[in-house]
Amino acid sequence: MAVRLYDSLTREVRELKPAHKDGVFRFYNCGPTVYAPAHIGNFRTFTVNDVLRRLLEREFGAAHVKHVRNITDVDDRTIAQAKKEGKPLAEITQFWTNKFHADCDALNCLKPTVEPTATGHILEQVDMIDVLMQKGNAYRSADGSVYFKITSFDGYGSLSRIKERELKITNSAFDADHKDDIGDFALWKAYKPEEDGLVKWSGPQGASEGRPGWHIECSAMIKKHLGETIDLHTGGVDLLFPHHENEIAQSQCCNGTAFALHWFHSEHLLAEGTTMSKSKGNYYTLDSLLAKGYSANAVRYVLLAGHPRKQLNFTLDSLHAADSALKTLREFRIKLSALVPEPSLDRGPSRFDAAINALCDDLNIPGALGKLFTEVNNPLPTDRGLLSADLKSFDEVLYLIGLKLDEVKVAIPTEISALAQNRWEAKASKNFALADSLRTDLTKAGWAMLDRKDGYSLEPLKQ
Ligand SMILES: [Zn+2]
Repeated sequence: MAVRLYDSLTREVRELKPAHKDGVFRFYNCGPTVYAPAHIGNFRTFTVNDVLRRLLEREFGAAHVKHVRNITDVDDRTIAQAKKEGKPLAEITQFWTNKFHADCDALNCLKPTVEPTATGHILEQVDMIDVLMQKGNAYRSADGSVYFKITSFDGYGSLSRIKERELKITNSAFDADHKDDIGDFALWKAYKPEEDGLVKWSGPQGASEGRPGWHIECSAMIKKHLGETIDLHTGGVDLLFPHHENEIAQSQCCNGTAFALHWFHSEHLLAEGTTMSKSKGNYYTLDSLLAKGYSANAVRYVLLAGHPRKQLNFTLDSLHAADSALKTLREFRIKLSALVPEPSLDRGPSRFDAAINALCDDLNIPGALGKLFTEVNNPLPTDRGLLSADLKSFDEVLYLIGLKLDEVKVAIPTEISALAQNRWEAKASKNFALADSLRTDLTKAGWAMLDRKDGYSLEPLKQ
């Protein structure tokens, strides 16, 4: 089934397909700004994009999906953090990049094909700014900064449908005195020793030393790693304006071609019914939730349990519910795999395919989870072929959503633990008759004891 997805630009659900002749699907996702730990709102976007990536790989083949996600390692916030800690910028950004990677691994997000950094692409950004100045889309201001002239691009505002009045208010924050028009935005920011410390590079032709504006970073990294026209550009809805609107303006004016053929934005995450803030006590990072005893797997489940285009309310209660949902899925998986010890390589249709279809239909992850649980609660088929197809399809849904059932902890009743321990000791002292009889007791109680060289584990046999 083709992957269909809402396009924020045309406001339609459209099929995703590679536009280039090489058949490679070019996918860009705006990455983190590395000055602090990413919060779970950021990870909603990254986990949603991870499901999308897995679906695209299923559709086009892993070798035909090029996924680029950048690291913003120079901007106002990274520089301010380095100054606050009295450390070099690169030390701060490397530290938080490492932390971001660790969190992504814990949340089972696939690594992007390429993960470029903004500071690794200064020359590419300067080149684009030079072209924009030559073409008359950008101008140098009195202080040596460079601004993009939004009136030079007719298509400005097409993604966000922003009205001119709102535009003036939103784009006005930076250095209003230096701009021709208050709606213009910075491509290059002239060096200010009191703010920037040692952070500066040679600028575009005629501009001062300084650093790039945030928006041009993505445009330059996209051009370098994916080319002038890409198949899909994604990010959180907070990036739609001005960031993505500005990326379109810069890239299309510089390259003279269409920029992104499809746009997708995931919605905001609320926590305990309101926006996250440290003062309200509802500001969650992955570490803060792990410290409360929740698993990263449950966090991922909750972040994906709402439709990506709707706001999602994250609560600690929903993590409890996720834990029990994951246990149900794990117990079902154990029961099913016990019936199909050797699933056939090819499979026919399965009742779990409806969940895959839901994912392909505008990334309906809650719909897919709903279909998964409906079928988990239905009686198992008796036909071996159907069972085998169910196992394969079930595993595929779990892989696409990115849930790892082997990490789900199953509560083991004390009497079962005691039986297992007695059996382990009986076996160790070579009292095999007792060991066998205790194993029978465990089986009757619905538990399988799996022996290893150095110990054992217990798995429930029934739901
Ligand atoms: Zn970006």
